[in-house]
Order: sequence, then C-alpha cells, then structure tokens
Amino acid sequence: MVTLSAILTPLGRHLQRQLRSELRNHRWTPVRRCSLTVCSSKYVLSQMHPIWQTPLAVPGGDRQSPIDIAVRKTQWDRKLQPLEMRYDPRTCQQIWNNGYSFIVEYDDTSDRSTLKGGPLEDQFRLCQFHFHWGESNAWGSEHSVDRHLFPAELHLVHWNADKYSLFEEAVLEDNGLGVIGVFLKLGKRHEGLQKLVDALPAVRHKDSVVEFSRFDPACLLPENTEDYWTYAGSLTTPPLTEAVTWMVMKQPIEVSHDQLAVFRSLLFTSAEEEVQRSMVNNFRVQQPLAGRTVRSSFDPFHHGEPSAV
Ligand SMILES: [Zn+2]
Repeated sequence: MVTLSAILTPLGRHLQRQLRSELRNHRWTPVRRCSLTVCSSKYVLSQMHPIWQTPLAVPGGDRQSPIDIAVRKTQWDRKLQPLEMRYDPRTCQQIWNNGYSFIVEYDDTSDRSTLKGGPLEDQFRLCQFHFHWGESNAWGSEHSVDRHLFPAELHLVHWNADKYSLFEEAVLEDNGLGVIGVFLKLGKRHEGLQKLVDALPAVRHKDSVVEFSRFDPACLLPENTEDYWTYAGSLTTPPLTEAVTWMVMKQPIEVSHDQLAVFRSLLFTSAEEEVQRSMVNNFRVQQPLAGRTVRSSFDPFHHGEPSAV
C-alpha cells in the first residue's frame, strides 16, 4: 500500500475534484442482470481503484484468479479428501483497513491455526482473512458459479509452513498459499459474523488498526465443508502471484443486508484525504481459465444447487 500512497499523495486538489466528478459521471447503473465479464470490465475501466494502477498489477501468467466456475465443466475427483481446519481463536490479533478491504490478522508464528487435507499435501497456517463485496447485492464476489455472482466473498488465506518459513516467502512460490473462498448470500443475520461487524466502525478509514481477539474463523465456514471446488490460481490483488491452491466452498453462508451495509460504510480513503470514497466493489475482474481444470470434491450432477444444504 506504499505504492498506493505514492500515487495518491501528488494528486492536487483540482485533480481530485476532476476524479470525483468523473467517477460520478461514469457511475454504472445496471439495467439488467449482470453479465459478469462485461460488468467487471466496465467497472474496472470506469472506477479503477489505485491498486490496479501499479506496475505490480500486470498479470503474470496463465493461471490467474478469480474465475467463473462452470459446473458442468468441472471434474469430480473422488480422491479429494475433506479439508481439515483447526483454528485456535486465540491466534486472532487485529483488524486492519488496508485501503482495499479489511484484513483480520492471525498470529502465524506457530502451527496453532492450520489447514490441511483436501488437495493440499502439506500443512498450511492461517495468516488472515478478508472479504470482497459490491456496492449492490447483485455483485461483489470474485468467483462465480455458472456466472452467478454473490454479494460478497470471504477469503481465508493460509501459507505452506511445511515448505516455507515465512508468508512473504510462500507468496512468491508455487504451492505457497492455500485460500478458502466462501460465498456470502443475502439472508438472515449471521451471528458469528456480528462480533466482527460490531468492531468495523473502528477501522472505517484506511490504515486504521484495532485490536481484535478470540475470533474463531471456523464460524464463517458453511455447514457443509465437504463439497468444494479446487483449482490452481493466483492472488487476486497485487502482486497477483500464481502461488494459490484455491478451495471454493459450494455452500454459501447467509448474512443480512444490514451486515453488508456495515462493510459498505468503510472507506478506501484515510482520514486526512479530502475526498472520501466508500469501500465497495473491491473485487478483481475475472480471468481466463486458460485450459485449467476445476475439480470438485462432489458429484456435480447429484448435489442440487450451490445454495442447498
Ligand atoms: Zn481476497
């Protein structure tokens, strides 16, 4: 985020006003259901967040994320075992508004909160989780299922502590990261999430940090964690490294409109900035599958819709 400040700081008052007026003029109001690629591209062209203007935002290769999961093209892999999450809520440390999302950070100096099993051969440590969401409930998730977008998506980020000694090292390497994606759909209030939602006003501005303890991330997983998709991909924020084994849960979790409204009340901007910008639409445009296979841990033709329990 140093690069982001370097870009924003030199912007003069006039330029900021111009930018604000352009954003307002180009505000895109969909008149029909979002066609994903078009929607995301239009968004990126008209309201590009500064993180996408850095040299680090140039996609590297042919296994970029996020993607659309076309269910009938996925391959059922009967050898895929259930994921094993063992999270210690006492490793939860703080919430940080990094100017693009809010990051809930965990102590990853020992094997206290771990993920293994599924497509993973090694043991991975949880270092943080965060969300991506839209300004409207019609979009916001990074991945989609048969082009269906959800209002938000949770990412639980783990790094391979068997092969690497630091997150910073793992992020650059193949098989370095394992990220669990969970879709959020609109429904009843999520009681587990509420503790986090209540803490969010303290990190409204960019660069604000608040202590946050004893939060069990397992409460944000769906009831059914046995059914998931997995594929080889990348980070969806710079440096976009192709280090990620993605595990996207089939079953979404339910959250209320009011809870999402608190996400949207956060700001991309710091308290000092004259023009404040709402933290919304913080997702990356979808990327080509480029010949990759998405495997499923379940028979895609005998398990009903993604929202089924
Ligand atoms: Zn993410």
